Amino acid sequence: MSSVQLTQIQPVTDNTSVEYQNAWKNIISVLRDMHGEAVYRSWFKALNFIECSNGKVTLAVPTRFIKEWINNHYGKDIRKYIQVHMQHVHDFEIIVRNTHTPVHTKPVQSGSNVQSADGRRVEILPTTSAVENNAENVLAIPTIEASLDPRFTFDTFVVGKPNELAHAAARRVAESEKVVSGGNPLFLYGGVGLGKTHLMHAIAWHIFTHTPERKVVYLSAEKFMYQFIRALRFKEAIAFKEYFRSVDVLMIDDVQFISGKDSTQEEFFHTFNALVDQNKQLVISCDRSPSDLEGMEERIKSRLGWGLVADIHATSYELRLGILQSKIERIDNIHIPKKVLEFLAHKIVSNVRELEGALNRVVAHATLVGKPITLETTQELLQDLLRANDKRISVEDIQKQVAGYYSIKVSDMHSARRSRTVARPRQVAMYLSKKLTTKSLPDIGRKFGGKDHTTVIHAVKRVEELMQTDHEFAQDIELLMRMIRN
Ligand code: ADP
Ligand code: MG
Repeated sequence: MSSVQLTQIQPVTDNTSVEYQNAWKNIISVLRDMHGEAVYRSWFKALNFIECSNGKVTLAVPTRFIKEWINNHYGKDIRKYIQVHMQHVHDFEIIVRNTHTPVHTKPVQSGSNVQSADGRRVEILPTTSAVENNAENVLAIPTIEASLDPRFTFDTFVVGKPNELAHAAARRVAESEKVVSGGNPLFLYGGVGLGKTHLMHAIAWHIFTHTPERKVVYLSAEKFMYQFIRALRFKEAIAFKEYFRSVDVLMIDDVQFISGKDSTQEEFFHTFNALVDQNKQLVISCDRSPSDLEGMEERIKSRLGWGLVADIHATSYELRLGILQSKIERIDNIHIPKKVLEFLAHKIVSNVRELEGALNRVVAHATLVGKPITLETTQELLQDLLRANDKRISVEDIQKQVAGYYSIKVSDMHSARRSRTVARPRQVAMYLSKKLTTKSLPDIGRKFGGKDHTTVIHAVKRVEELMQTDHEFAQDIELLMRMIRN
């Protein structure tokens, strides 16, 4: 949230409606800058200023869904800007009212490719009554080439232990000419910046270039919902359904956004079922496992987990180094000492996106100042990033998080109780202390109520064994690691 943008808005000094309206327009333009054109067009544009009274702004949107989405995702921002820039106003309310008045512009021929406002090629979907509709009314989904990042292919994806299952599954779906048995849907999940979108795009690119007769559609969950809502609003639900029925491979990225009790969830479920029934391939990505999707109905969760569920684990040192090496191979005329790469792989552990950011910064700097890259310049350049990644994790933090996770008392971490309900979490906390801190075994033992270092060794071994044999347990550990690191 940039404070620079805030200063561009003139506070309203007079209590008249026109001034409030103008202030509102300014707020909208700040929100537009902040969240980008796509978000603006999907959501903020639908907000209509109705009135301002009793310290409250009333805004209208055409559907309950849009109202809920804006409240949940942008409510805080809107409230903040209103408080700062409208005098005596401290809150807002969104009401549902259909304020849309159709504008009759030139009809768009269905089935053709046209340029959208942001210059991207979009496919105009066949609709039942396209001619009666104005351009805005017709469903427009970007063509597959326009929706994909050309850098995100299998060639540029580095495979390592943490992502090998997800990668193998993605390959299988991409290379198969028909729906993969036992692999529908393919459900890819993992934390932020670990390569889910990259893999999704890689699948789509592969199909698009190798079997162009297979129609592949890639959409973020947000776009999917937006399209659906729009279709309902403009009575194009049939066109929407027909369109998705014509698809061979449907890919929905970040499905966690389809949550909360809503009609879109229902529609998503129907589309989903219809496609599976028709033997169409679905690929879904998500930041968590199907069973962890809160706000999603049980039957949908279970359906999502029917096919192949593949998770991408947190990166390992080897994978991070591999990714860095593969990236620099693609940059000409630059030499980065091995030491620097190792240093980066060692220090930037949060996710691949940040790792790439760090590398780009080092390269950009070297190119600009024309000096060789050294460990010292790298350290200096990345001070802020390194500090964030260095966030010291303490044994106490780990004990707290683990106790919370297994619903036991923190004091049980120090006790000698041997009942399984407390002994297992204690072992987990010891294991994580060994993995995530630089403390020695005796040090760790001491922090668990003065236990011997052999107890810690035993705990680490036990947890490692269990992780091999018990998939669910391994996932718990994975999740805890992420929670503690963040
Ligand atoms: P997610 O969708 O899981 O949040 P992305 O797919 O957007 O993450 O990945 C973030 C960045 O990291 C992208 O630039 C992507 O190319 C890169 N990346 C992630 N994993 C890998 C990998 N295994 N090999 C190469 N690049 C990767
Ligand atoms: Mg993504």
